[in-house]
Amino acid sequence: ATRMVLASRPQGKPVPDNFRKEEVTLPALTDGTFLVRVIWLSLDPYMRGRMDDAKSYAKPVAIGDTMEGGAVGEVMNSRNADYPKGAIVAGAFGWTTHAVSDGTSVRIVDPAVAPISTAQGVLGMPGITAWVGLNDIGRAQDGETIVVSAATGAVGAIVGQLARARNMRVIGVAGGADKCAHAVQDLGYHACLDHHAHDAKSLSQAIADAAPDGVDVYFESVGGKTLEAVLPHMNTHGRIALCGMIAWYSGHGIGDAQPLPTVWRHILTRRLLVEGFISFDHFHKFDAFLAEVGPMVRDGRITYREDIAEGLENAPDAFLRMLSGGNFGKQLVRVGAD
Ligand code: NDP
Repeated sequence: ATRMVLASRPQGKPVPDNFRKEEVTLPALTDGTFLVRVIWLSLDPYMRGRMDDAKSYAKPVAIGDTMEGGAVGEVMNSRNADYPKGAIVAGAFGWTTHAVSDGTSVRIVDPAVAPISTAQGVLGMPGITAWVGLNDIGRAQDGETIVVSAATGAVGAIVGQLARARNMRVIGVAGGADKCAHAVQDLGYHACLDHHAHDAKSLSQAIADAAPDGVDVYFESVGGKTLEAVLPHMNTHGRIALCGMIAWYSGHGIGDAQPLPTVWRHILTRRLLVEGFISFDHFHKFDAFLAEVGPMVRDGRITYREDIAEGLENAPDAFLRMLSGGNFGKQLVRVGAD
């Protein structure tokens, strides 16, 4: 197998030298294991956290270990009856062309529902993150106003469409005019604000203009100036579904952030409910999620966009690009033939 390992830990922004390509020989199959040929690798912002040796909700990747990652592949050879040869499977196979698995956290993907790449996108981890974050964490109610950051990304695009289907007023914040046009024309956002075109102050004014009744739910994925701009417009008893803070993942801009007392005061005076959440705590709801969102994808009520890099060797570049907003849609790597 060819795999991509963590060669060194980044100092601030990651660079290509933090990764290294290696050839490895996989172990022979034993009872209960199977060999997977990876077709699609998912690139996700959480991988930035795994590159640091810091305490978080998951262990860091060790230096020299395969980069962690969700993937979809085909079972080539099997000594596990639950995962027979030819089955399409999704699991944490990592940044590799092939993997041997014992089935832990691996699920079978039904190619009849949707293209199998969606098992890492709209019908996978980003999808359930959007669905749980909107409903269970954000406690969204029909008719309310929601702001969605990273509005056209893997998670945000689904939040926006689900919110629109619930008759909410949906305001996106995204990087660039093209992304904003896509948000409004294809994803059903009522308005989308380009954060590149604003500083925190003018972004705040733009949110006030787009949300004349204030903001009931903020789907927070970015932190930075977007968070600063949205906070003053939260309605009393508003909810913030705290999904991510990508603007701060590599340390950039933290020193310019609003002081904690300012943020704390907004939460107090507006009686905000701020709840962080991590997708895997909710994976037991996966069947309910698929039952609701699967048909919406199949009949086109929910659309999705993928940004595809070709070949495992291009995974590091695509990953670095995604961290700074270079992706347009769910970032995937085509590792093997479909
Ligand atoms: P996306 O497809 O949204 O890609 C990341 C996007 O983040 C970029 O395209 C860019 O969008 C935006 N971004 C990057 N830097 C900045 C910045 N400085 N300021 C504002 N926006 C920025 O990725 P995902 O949908 O997979 O993830 C989105 C967020 O959700 C991340 O924070 C991620 O960590 C989090 N997440 C959390 C999960 C959980 O369980 N809590 C699960 C999955 C994701 P743009 O160009 O529009 O600015």
